[in-house]
Amino acid sequence: MSGKIMVVGFGPGHADHITERAKQALQESDMIIGYKTYVDLIVGLLSDQQVISTGMTEEVARAQEAVRQAEQGKVVAVISSGDSGVYGMAGLVYEVLVEQGWTETTGVPVEIVPGISAINSCAALLGAPIMHDACTISLSDHLTPWELIAKRVEAAASADFVIALYNPRSGRRTRQIIETQKILLKYRSADTPVGLVKSAYRDRQHVVMTTLAEMLEHDIGMLTTVIIGNSTTFFYDNKMITPRGYQRKYTLGAKEQPLKPHQRLQKEAEPWALEQTLATEENENTEVKGETPSALEMAMLASQKVSQMKGEAVSYVAATMEKTLPQDLGTSPASMLEAYRPQESILEFAVSPGVANKKLSAQQMIRLAEVVGEKGSIEYSPHHQMILRIPTYDPQEITTLLEAEGLILSPIGDVLQMKACDFCDGEKADSIPHADEIQEKLGGMELPKELRIGFNGCGMACYGAVNEDIGIVYRKGKFDLFLGAKTVGRNAHPAQPVAEGIEPDEIVGLVERIVQRFKAEGHPNERFHKFFKRVKVIEGYTYQDMSIPISIEPALCGD
Ligand code: SAH
Repeated sequence: MSGKIMVVGFGPGHADHITERAKQALQESDMIIGYKTYVDLIVGLLSDQQVISTGMTEEVARAQEAVRQAEQGKVVAVISSGDSGVYGMAGLVYEVLVEQGWTETTGVPVEIVPGISAINSCAALLGAPIMHDACTISLSDHLTPWELIAKRVEAAASADFVIALYNPRSGRRTRQIIETQKILLKYRSADTPVGLVKSAYRDRQHVVMTTLAEMLEHDIGMLTTVIIGNSTTFFYDNKMITPRGYQRKYTLGAKEQPLKPHQRLQKEAEPWALEQTLATEENENTEVKGETPSALEMAMLASQKVSQMKGEAVSYVAATMEKTLPQDLGTSPASMLEAYRPQESILEFAVSPGVANKKLSAQQMIRLAEVVGEKGSIEYSPHHQMILRIPTYDPQEITTLLEAEGLILSPIGDVLQMKACDFCDGEKADSIPHADEIQEKLGGMELPKELRIGFNGCGMACYGAVNEDIGIVYRKGKFDLFLGAKTVGRNAHPAQPVAEGIEPDEIVGLVERIVQRFKAEGHPNERFHKFFKRVKVIEGYTYQDMSIPISIEPALCGD
């Protein structure tokens, strides 16, 4: 007899997401056995197959029927939504077979046809939330003791897994998700991103992005999969994203990476890897034993740091460590937990004493020297900025210390940088509040390309506002505006004067709109003057070519 059982996962529900093999399997079958709702979803793919559809708690009967039919020579497809091996029919079919002593050589052939499980289809609709270690937990306690489910939630939460909750809630099972949320909140912050996907790739598809604290305020039902982010997951532009960890080694917004390709897999560049962790453990050895933080505390520390990194624009770049590692590596299993140890990375940012204030106090200089230490460096840039690069395990400690001294910290790279004059040592102070407001609203904003705003407090414009991407000059109680200097190169030219006499209550809003437009429409890496030339009109100001009409050979850096 040529009977056969195929257990077919047909994916989330739309015909586009069924595998080719699953479609073939349905076609090859004489008989389709499945839960009624599922049969309805694939009925369009059937021709003359006999269909046996049963109710929700009839899984065992379905599996038994499939075995019986196959043994009588029928080719049977037992269908599951998603993947048949993930809370589907595959295991049950095998269990029924095992019960009657089936083996592959003596019994009917069995083929398990894989499908796209809800964790994958729902993740795709949310963005990329399961980029890192993830697990699935079904909250259904019909067949599993609640105590065990709670234990698994606890374990997954404490180990910082991204968690996909299947069967989160039904008409009768309403408390499980509430208890689950409580457990999760013990380990994860209230604002942990959570995605709720109902009926992925089906007619009533509904996607909600919320937080761990607020998730129960939304509809969660039998057709919902709940995806709980880990401590690094974030929302961006309506996407839920879990970083893979690239930011530990790479500066994602930069073209030039701090680690060159040949350095990227070197031991020193991976202080968090098992070998290095064991080595450090061995090195620190006994005296710290009693005080060694638990794995959980380590995870908390690491996650706090990553959330700061997400929040702050100060870039936190991992780079080669100067640490020498002992060759003799320890092997204690406890030390493996130390993989959570926060890593030493290079904190990189610009520091200035203020928007208008150009003077550093002795105390500020002492504090700078302390935090930079012997391993860090201070570079004085062409733009009157001190660029600090400091290897550290704790970026926040450094930024807090410097901010406490009244220093202004700004990110570097493709961000907005405000360059104000010293307002004649504070004597011409009228326009300082406007400069401060621009710094507060726009300073450090990420842009397609670095953009400098020059702000000068009088018509002398001695700090060169007219030579910046955007120049603002305060004169006779009003503002003059300059746009689009070409700030570097042999054909550098000043910005175009576009307006005079702008009222003080209009200047900040106007500059904000100009910058927002550049942010929204500028091409990656496009300098502001090129952007102005391309879009021709900004806020009613028309571009004029300010370059000198002679041709000079372009020169590359260093030529
Ligand atoms: N075998 C299926 C899971 C069956 S358990 C799979 O691999 O996806 C049933 C649970 O799966 C539902 O309660 C829901 O949490 C999830 N699920 C299945 N299909 C889904 C879909 N299209 N959209 C959202 N969640 C789905």
